[in-house]
Amino acid sequence: MIEMKNVSKWYGDFKVLTDCTTKVAKGEVVVVCGPSGSGKSTLIKCVNGLEPVQEGRIVVDGAEVTGSGAKLTKLRAKIGMVFQHFELYPHMSVRDNLCLAQEKVLGRTRKEAEARSETLLTRVGMIDHVAKYPGQLSGGQQQRVAIARALAMDPIAMLFDEPTSALDPEMIKEVLDVMVGLARDDGMTMMVVTHEMGFARKVADRVVFMDAGAIVEDRPTKEFFDAPESERAQDFLSKIL
Ligand code: ADP
Ligand code: MG
Repeated sequence: MIEMKNVSKWYGDFKVLTDCTTKVAKGEVVVVCGPSGSGKSTLIKCVNGLEPVQEGRIVVDGAEVTGSGAKLTKLRAKIGMVFQHFELYPHMSVRDNLCLAQEKVLGRTRKEAEARSETLLTRVGMIDHVAKYPGQLSGGQQQRVAIARALAMDPIAMLFDEPTSALDPEMIKEVLDVMVGLARDDGMTMMVVTHEMGFARKVADRVVFMDAGAIVEDRPTKEFFDAPESERAQDFLSKIL
């Protein structure tokens, strides 16, 4: 579903990604972890073309993301993305947040969009809040709405960038539970940047460990945790576990 081959990227003179190669098969969950500044956010932004790359190739669902002529608008509509900071539209109700892109991008009628929204809000436990505005919700609730909003576009894959790291501890689980459900019940293809190693152990098929812009390890989850090969991954795990 997602394939990256020998991707390198620079911000000006600064090489932020060095020769990154990995893939995510359909239905697979890959957790990306590593120290702050190691390039995790940049890596996943490149997957849906939010950031251009200077070397290498990225192919998503058979379509080239890199290179000229890439149909990025169409691609982005197919890939759901959830960030650390819940980027809901503050001046719109929860319902309108979910309906907007369904109507504008997918061409659904208001009725269709509302029906789909309600199904998803029920699923993330937020149906009772459909008429509220983001400012009236807790961080965990906003993040669950953000996930529902991404799912409303019927994405072929979901990208998460530290979706729980701005949340108070008691709200982390409610968001992770939704993500676990997506992985287990829907078989959603997911690439998740997170430091939640409990989540990784539970649902990740593989763990990608990054350091200084490079993919240092890309291994089945159990192998990664039981016997990280690199000193850098061992050091990282010893600090966060
Ligand atoms: P992570 O998500 O692992 O913390 P990032 O991908 O955000 O890492 O950043 C990797 C490196 O690239 C950091 O050193 C960061 O300062 C730098 N960086 C990120 N975004 C930009 C940008 N837009 N311009 C220049 N440097 C950037
Ligand atoms: Mg980041």
